[in-house]
This record gives sequence, structure tokens and C-alpha cells, in this order.
Amino acid sequence: MALNVVMLGPPGAGKGTQAERFATTHGLPKISTGDILREAVQAGTELGRIAKATMDAGELLGDDVMIGIAGERLKRSDTTRGFVLDGFPRTVTQATALDTIMDGRGPLVVVDIVVPEDVLLRRLAARRICGSCGVNALVEWTTTCGVCGGGLVTRTDDGDGIVRGRLKVYHRQTRPIVKFYSKRPTFRVIDGNQPPDAVTAAMDQAICQACTVPDPGKEIPL
Ligand code: AMP
Repeated sequence: MALNVVMLGPPGAGKGTQAERFATTHGLPKISTGDILREAVQAGTELGRIAKATMDAGELLGDDVMIGIAGERLKRSDTTRGFVLDGFPRTVTQATALDTIMDGRGPLVVVDIVVPEDVLLRRLAARRICGSCGVNALVEWTTTCGVCGGGLVTRTDDGDGIVRGRLKVYHRQTRPIVKFYSKRPTFRVIDGNQPPDAVTAAMDQAICQACTVPDPGKEIPL
């Protein structure tokens, strides 16, 4: 059975780092819509030109564009054994579209990483991306990018005012997804306010357990 994982959580919860670790350990592609958009910005493509101002303002791109990007990426053959989605879905409309995309492809295991707001603000102030290829820096990269060797820089959308705006956007537009998924037997909540290795272990355990639930396609009756 395919292992289809969706990572939820506010900006700074550690989704990117944990998605990367889980994907690497389990030999699955990590699909980050934020990384796809940052790469498009770096490459100066049409998508990058459309996305840049919205991303810099800490707002969300339109659902149609994002559903198109995720849908195309999920058609690729490397996703047949499963995937780890980071940053998509971000609205209930996107989550509904993902269910349609997933029709017949096995259940989604949804992991919500929970971190207190003051910790998020501190983490976001310290966060870096690669100035050359645009990927999110992992916690273990100190000065250079582990993918291309480029120098690490602060994200333009991680400035103080923008960060607070992004957290508001999260609460208004993305948090309702938790309710959308929370009654599914394959939904799990993880405490993200612990050292990265502890979060990784908790995620592994929660996802393994979620994959052994008897009928993961069905919702638990209220
Ligand atoms: P992230 O790296 O996941 O924090 O994404 C960075 C920025 O990309 C977000 O603040 C949005 O502007 C945009 N973005 C990424 N994923 C999505 C999505 N699923 N829906 C809308 N906008 C997105």
C-alpha cells in the first residue's frame, strides 16, 4: 500500500525538516509547494513572476494555481509508492481537491505538528533558505546548502511584520483544514516543541500506527 503523508502545521513548526527526514528514511519524494514556488522565483519563470509578490507579502497564492501545481506533481511516477506533502493543502478548497486527486490511490496519513506561537516566532526569526537554489535549509545545515552548496540567507517572508501576518493567514485560511481531517482515523497530532530528533521519532511512530488502522479510508462515526 502507498504511504501518502500530508504534513500540517503553522510556518516554523518544522514541517519542511521533518518531511525531508521522513521522505529520505522511507525512500519517498518530498513535495514542498513552497520549494517549488521558490525554485520558480529563482529561475525567473512565468510562475515565479506571478508568485513572488504574493509570497513576499506572506499571502497565499490562488487555489486554482496551487491545485494545478500539486496535481501535476502528483501525476509523476515517483509518487506511486507514496509521497510526503509539505505546504499543500493550505485551504479547505485545496484539501477537497486533494481528496479528488487521491481517489483510488490509498488513504492520506495526515500529521499536524503543534508548536506554541512564541516558539514559532523565535524559530522563524532564525530560519534560513539557500540563496542559490531556494530550498529551505535543514536544521543540520549551518552555513551552506546541503543540495547545491550555495550560501544560506534569511527568507524575504521571514521578516518580523511579515511573519506575524503569515501566522494570521495560517489561522484564518489553513487551520480549518485540521477540522476537515481530524475525524479521519489516519489523522495524528505531534508535539513539535521538542528537539528535532524527538519529533522525527514521534512522527515515525504515529505514521506507522496510522498505517495499521483497520479501514483507513473510512471516517470514524461521531
Ligand atoms: P512555505 O515554504 O510552505 O512556507 O511557502 C511559502 C509561500 O509560498 C507561502 O507563504 C505562500 O505564499 C506560498 N505557498 C506555498 N504553498 C502554498 C499553497 N498550498 N497555497 C497557497 N500558497 C502557497
